[in-house]
Amino acid sequence: MSLMFSGIGVSRGIVIGEAYILRRNQPEISAQTLKRSEVPREVRRYKKALAEAKNQLEQVRKSIPKNAPSDVSAFIETHLLMIDDSVLADGPLEILKSRACKAEAALEHQRQELQKIFDEMEDPYIATRMDDVNHVINQIMRVLVAQPDKSQSGTSETDWKGLIVIADDLTPADTIVMQNQGVAGFVTETGGQLSHTAILARSLGIPAIVGIHNLRDYIKPGEQLILHGESGMVLAEPEQLMIDSYRKQQRLFREQQRELRKLVDTPAITEDGIELSLMANIEIDEDIKALKRVNADGVGLYRTEFLYMNRDDLPDENEHFQVYSKVARALKGAPLTIRLADLGADKEAGAEITGPLAHNPAMGLRGVRLALSDTTLIIPQIAAILRVSAKSPVSIMIPMLTNLHEVEQCLELIEQAKTQLTERRIKFDKDIAVGGMIEVPAAAIAADQFASSLDFLSIGTNDLIQYTLAIDRIDDRVNYLYDPLHPAVLQLIKMTIEAGKRADIPVAMCGEMAGDPRYVRLLLGLGLTEFSMPPNSLLEVKRALLGSNRQRLQKASNALLKCSSRDSQQQLLTKINKTDSATIH
Ligand code: PEP
Ligand code: MG
Repeated sequence: MSLMFSGIGVSRGIVIGEAYILRRNQPEISAQTLKRSEVPREVRRYKKALAEAKNQLEQVRKSIPKNAPSDVSAFIETHLLMIDDSVLADGPLEILKSRACKAEAALEHQRQELQKIFDEMEDPYIATRMDDVNHVINQIMRVLVAQPDKSQSGTSETDWKGLIVIADDLTPADTIVMQNQGVAGFVTETGGQLSHTAILARSLGIPAIVGIHNLRDYIKPGEQLILHGESGMVLAEPEQLMIDSYRKQQRLFREQQRELRKLVDTPAITEDGIELSLMANIEIDEDIKALKRVNADGVGLYRTEFLYMNRDDLPDENEHFQVYSKVARALKGAPLTIRLADLGADKEAGAEITGPLAHNPAMGLRGVRLALSDTTLIIPQIAAILRVSAKSPVSIMIPMLTNLHEVEQCLELIEQAKTQLTERRIKFDKDIAVGGMIEVPAAAIAADQFASSLDFLSIGTNDLIQYTLAIDRIDDRVNYLYDPLHPAVLQLIKMTIEAGKRADIPVAMCGEMAGDPRYVRLLLGLGLTEFSMPPNSLLEVKRALLGSNRQRLQKASNALLKCSSRDSQQQLLTKINKTDSATIH
């Protein structure tokens, strides 16, 4: 019997393939029996893993701040004692030798034996110490799993090919590796429309769904699935009739994609002669290839946070310079808007950089606030962007602005960097444009002030919607409230566009709304002419905008802002999106 599951569709496309269940915290333990001659090597492997796990714990102990509560270090001390205890140092080795099994299996067996003993303990406090034992065992297990036995084939290049991966969540690194290896699609149990994973899936063009809780409990590895990225639906063990029908839709989708590709060189001009700028949002190398495929006019948002992630130190000026120069060269003179590090909240870079986890990180020390509280994060970045500006048309964009003094401080840092470069006799563009992101309601309401201090504005709807509607952008439980058409959101967008007009500076939009074909005509009607989006959305957005007439759209778009019911809003939107805009009155 087929089963249907429903989640949040975050990246379009239909795929039919086998399920791959990814359980990162519970590695698959092989029940393989070793040859007797292989046992000594496995013993060495376990001892090495034990030493490495101990070393990691010692590093953790060293990194505990002196003023941390004493039970923090006591906790680690206990774990260090446990790792040296014969229960973990010798017990698994005895099992390994007697059963001739893999180190992981021996350790898991030992875990189960210990669990039985702890379960029988009367004292509830002592019984909970099993949690500590589990932490230590997991620490050793992680080392073992990260050092796969070389005698096995391990993860081959084609491991993900054609598979539909189901996981709790995926890191950006996972997503990129899987895409390189031809994954068909993925479903995660957590995450929302705007989680990093979702944004990356869209930009890499991987059909994806997020937020289907506990899906891994219902799907067996290898089970056949249909994934419908647009509607967020997963069908397990579909009947042949369904498979045939979805294959038909798949062919139709591919046909539409082929038709879209014909628009690559078509200029983006409205019926009434307004030239539109269709730019790309990029963050990884793959995005640049995609940008070229769709012939984007340039980069409206270069997210640079990846440079700060998964490392202990900060990128220096040269590293920034190398990375940005490479992108600028690839763009061959097209504009490149580089955003200053926007770390924190959904762009976590580790406690070293973003500090201890805040109670409410989206409202905390993030974006420009973090960068200004520790300017070593952006001083080398600013200098590097300035250096690139000597040869290429780059601009600097400040994220998460709320207060005017944040603009002033950033402009001051940019001036200081210019002075230093001059002293170092290094060239740069003295008139480099500096813009700011409008993604906090306060900044949209005070957009006139921001517009008078900056060279351009760019509306970040991902955060603007989060803050206006008070919904966590990555929490799937409130995703149903994520509404780009909410009158308050549309009002803030309109206010920002109009503030830009009054100050005679360009206003772009680089949030996901600018890449959604359902909304771009409405945005054009509100006066937006520069759209920056994941490259894979660009041709569809172009198709939606071609043949539109801004003058005629204006009236309907402004009327939509005043709609009092969801139904009338939808009706108006349908009219706005009709290919023949002349029908809108
Ligand atoms: C936004 O908030 O709309 C935006 C473009 O920035 P990010 O998604 O990187 O926060
Ligand atoms: Mg943002």
